[in-house]
Amino acid sequence: MKTPVSLIIDDPAPIISVYHEHAGKDATEDGRPLVATYPNELLFRFCDVAEKHGLRGKFSVVPMAGNKGDLIRGFQGVSRADLNEWIACVQTRLTPAFSVCPEMLTHHLAVDLSTGRDLPLNEKDWASTQTRETLTPYIAKALSLLTEAGFSPVGVTSPWDFGIEVEEEYQEAISAAVEQVTGSRVAWFFLRTLRERPNAKPWVALDRNGRTLVSIPATLRDRFWESIDTPRTDEEYVRSVADRLISEDGTRGEILDVLNTGGYPILITHWQSLMSNGLGTGIRMLDTVAERINRTLSDRVEWKSFEEILNMVLANKAAYPKPVF
Ligand SMILES: [Zn+2]
Repeated sequence: MKTPVSLIIDDPAPIISVYHEHAGKDATEDGRPLVATYPNELLFRFCDVAEKHGLRGKFSVVPMAGNKGDLIRGFQGVSRADLNEWIACVQTRLTPAFSVCPEMLTHHLAVDLSTGRDLPLNEKDWASTQTRETLTPYIAKALSLLTEAGFSPVGVTSPWDFGIEVEEEYQEAISAAVEQVTGSRVAWFFLRTLRERPNAKPWVALDRNGRTLVSIPATLRDRFWESIDTPRTDEEYVRSVADRLISEDGTRGEILDVLNTGGYPILITHWQSLMSNGLGTGIRMLDTVAERINRTLSDRVEWKSFEEILNMVLANKAAYPKPVF
């Protein structure tokens, strides 16, 4: 059997850059203004690369991106036509290859569900003191917005490391919210990373009362992130970043390190890393990495969506024990 390879895309939202909202700065490291929005043209370029190489994985949709509205009522400064085009494109071109999920509500300030108002702290800090009783409706709201927009999420992504301080409560809340909104008694979530560890694989996080929750970690680093902070777009630069993950001949790089120690290469990048502050350099880096993986490793690895990984784990739970942290 081939080893699963998968790609995590954190932080996408329709047109709005959640990074622009939460970065706490208004310029790139080299001094260019941070762009607040990404045109749908860049989403189409990403889809071209994903389709060309048959990529599979996980794609977040932040339903109340940057506290600027929501997927159903619309976002400030975003036309209804652009919003609808973005959602339709993700649905037709990225699913089911990518398992779409919420990355909680805003990836910025937490929201008071009873009043709809923004709270004066970010979602990560808010989550750190919550319990399953308060986390469940928050997660359910995020899942409901995606469901209403036409997606079928059975998993969630944690903005930053949302919930890590209260992970047991968080896990119970995810499992309960997924069942409440979708009826599914199996779910996955992405919170943790397993890097520079042998045999890095997903694990069964919770398996109780007929409900199962699988934790799917990133096992690599977002090497495309640096493209946010440089105006460089030349081919040599693109190749040099790709080299860190996988060399041109497919014999070296961090992906090989994971694979050679028995782990699953679960790549991670962010929407802002692919958009590269409007230049799209990260999309080209991904194109190069994916071409190298498929050309040199196709006898060893096979692209899988997060739902496919979930089902692999469920079919053989004993093979996926929880690692020690
Ligand atoms: Zn994120």
